Amino acid sequence: MKSFELKVSPARIVFGPGTLGRTGDMIRELGCSRALVLSTPNQKGAAETLAAGLGDLAAGVFTGATMHTPVDVTEKALAVLRATGADCTVAFGGGSTTGLGKALAYRTDVPQIAIPTTYAGSEVTPILGQTEGGRKTTVSDARILPEVVIYDPELTYGLPAGLTVTSALNAMAHAAEALYARDRNPISSLMAAEGLRVLVAALPVLRDEPADPEGRSGALYGAWLCGTVLGSVGMALHHKLCHVLGGTFDLPHAETHAVILPHAVAFNEAAVPDLLKPLAQALGTERAGQGLHGYAASIGAPMALKDIGMPENGIDQAADLAVANPYWNPRSFDRSDIRRLIENAFHGRPPD
Ligand code: NAD
Repeated sequence: MKSFELKVSPARIVFGPGTLGRTGDMIRELGCSRALVLSTPNQKGAAETLAAGLGDLAAGVFTGATMHTPVDVTEKALAVLRATGADCTVAFGGGSTTGLGKALAYRTDVPQIAIPTTYAGSEVTPILGQTEGGRKTTVSDARILPEVVIYDPELTYGLPAGLTVTSALNAMAHAAEALYARDRNPISSLMAAEGLRVLVAALPVLRDEPADPEGRSGALYGAWLCGTVLGSVGMALHHKLCHVLGGTFDLPHAETHAVILPHAVAFNEAAVPDLLKPLAQALGTERAGQGLHGYAASIGAPMALKDIGMPENGIDQAADLAVANPYWNPRSFDRSDIRRLIENAFHGRPPD
C-alpha cells in the first residue's frame, strides 16, 4: 500500500432536489442575517427571485459576476457588500459567480454559501483565480473555501445542452487527473472513479432528455465528487495545458477542457494505464484516451481548438509556454510531444 496523507474538507454539503429552499436556514445556521446574493448578468432574474424569497435575510443583489474574476469587478462588489452591511454571500451560478464569492471572502472572510448551477466544481476548492491588467494569478487559502454548498439538481434542468456537455467534461478532467495525482490518497481515488462513472453514465441520458431528473442529479453528484478531488490533490499536464491555452488565446474555459481531455489522457495513459483503468471501465473501452475521444463526439462536445477560437499560428507559442516552467506529470515529455498533442487537438484529430 502506498503511503498517503488526507485532509478532509470542512465544508457542509447539502444535496438534493428542492434544497434551494433551505438557503435561508443555511444563512441563519452560519450565524448570519444579511446575505448579498451574487450572480452573472445572465442569471439576474433567478438571483433576484432567490433574494425576494429570502426576504429580510437578503441585504442586496450584485449581478456583475463575470469570467476570470477581474479584480475591478470584485472591488465593485466589495463596495456593495460594505454599503449594504451584508454579513455573508450567496453565490448563485457557475464557476464565474462562485469565483466572485471566493474573491470577496478572501478579502473580508465573510462566510459563503455557494449554489452551483454548472459542473465546474469551484465551490468545493480553496483555490481562487483572479485577473488584473490581463494577468491571471491563483491563490489558495482556507478563507476561499465556501462554508456551505447547496447542490439542487433542479437548478440545472435548464442548463443549455452545449454547456452541459463541456462543463461535465471539465468536471471529468479533475477526476481523470486525480486518478494519477502524485499526492492521491485512497479516498480521492474512490471519489474520482465514482465521479467519472456517474458523469459518463449521465451525459447520454441528458443528450436525449435534457431535464431528466435522475440524469441531472447524477451529473451534479458527479460534479461534486470531481470538484472535491480538484480541491484536494494536485493536477498535471491537462490542467496546465488548459491554463496556458485559455490564458494566452482567451479561449472559453469549459470548452478548452472538453477538447484537450482525450489528448492529455491518451498521452498520460501510455505511462500509467493501470491508474486510468477506472476511466476506461466507465467508458466501457480498452483505452481511456481513445474511448474519451469517441465518447465526447457522441455527446456533441466541441472536438477542435480551431473551432473554439484558437489561431493556427498559436500552436508553437502554446507549445513553448506549456514547457516553459517544469511541473510534475506522470509521463515526462519534451516540446515536440506537446506540440504534437496541441496540433492534434487543434485539428480535432483522434489522440495518438
Ligand atoms: P460560468 O460560471 O462562466 O457560466 C457560463 C454562463 O452560463 C454564464 O453566463 C452563466 O450565467 C450561465 N449559466 C450558469 N449556469 C446556468 C444554468 N443552470 N442555466 C443557464 N445558464 C447558466 O462557467 P463555468 O464553466 O461554470 O465556470 C468557469 C469559471 O470557473 C472559469 O473562470 C474558471 O477558471 C472557474 N473555475 C474555477 C475553479 C477553481 O477551483 N477555482 C474550478 C473550476 C472552474
